[in-house]
Amino acid sequence: MSIVYIVSAPSGSGKSTLVAKLLTMVRNLDFSVSYTTRPPRGVEQNRKEYFFVSKEEFNAMIAADEFLEYADVFGNCYGTARRFLREAQAHGNDLLLDIDVQGAEQIQRKIPEAVSIFILPPDWHTLESRLRNRGSDAEEVIRRRLDTARREIENYSKYDYILINNLLDQSAGQLKDIVLAERLKTKDRSELSSELSEDEKRLLETAKACQLEQAQERVQPILASFKSSG
Ligand code: ADP
Ligand code: 5GP
Repeated sequence: MSIVYIVSAPSGSGKSTLVAKLLTMVRNLDFSVSYTTRPPRGVEQNRKEYFFVSKEEFNAMIAADEFLEYADVFGNCYGTARRFLREAQAHGNDLLLDIDVQGAEQIQRKIPEAVSIFILPPDWHTLESRLRNRGSDAEEVIRRRLDTARREIENYSKYDYILINNLLDQSAGQLKDIVLAERLKTKDRSELSSELSEDEKRLLETAKACQLEQAQERVQPILASFKSSG
């Protein structure tokens, strides 16, 4: 069975950057390229970051029940095509979904065993400066993303893991450890050598430290920075 990993984050937290790094570090992990009605941004290419489609094409896919989930985000439609999961399963690969909190809820209902990861910025000001430095959005869009972020972060407790994206390489390493730890957990014990290797023990520890219950305390100051800013 393929493991489905859901990654969500307030826009600008560094999710795309981390996911891109993860995909170069972990084998047998497919990325679900979503469909969207929003126009391409910067150097984005059709079929790579997204399938860029018209509203009519998107609606036709809804009517044909081609989406595992879909949602309206920032006034545009985004959806995960069912075929990505079928293809990952056929290839014996796991599947990574980069989707918003509404999409994550739909997947969690349909695939309760999916592993969900919420990425947070270290604080409000860092999020704001990352959005501005990215230089890809107009001021009005940045403001809308920041307003939405304030609401989105309230959903962090619906996720299995919390990843605070402070230092990029460290965060990418933690994301990789979560993915590998979940694979390790699904392996039949008889397939594993009787003793866990030092590396396996280390990655299980790293993943455990990112589990929701363990991360609660680290999240509180981040939530507070969102409440007091803007
Ligand atoms: P998202 O996909 O969550 O909207 P991006 O991956 O586009 O966010 O990242 C937003 C901006 O922040 C980008 O310019 C990216 O290079 C930068 N960034 C991402 N992670 C970090 C980090 N850990 N430290 C500093 N800058 C980062
Ligand atoms: P962006 O326009 O910045 O690429 O993405 C905006 C938001 O839409 C992000 O939170 C991203 O995770 C989310 N998103 C991207 N693809 C999908 C999808 O297929 N379904 C849902 N529900 N959200 C998506």
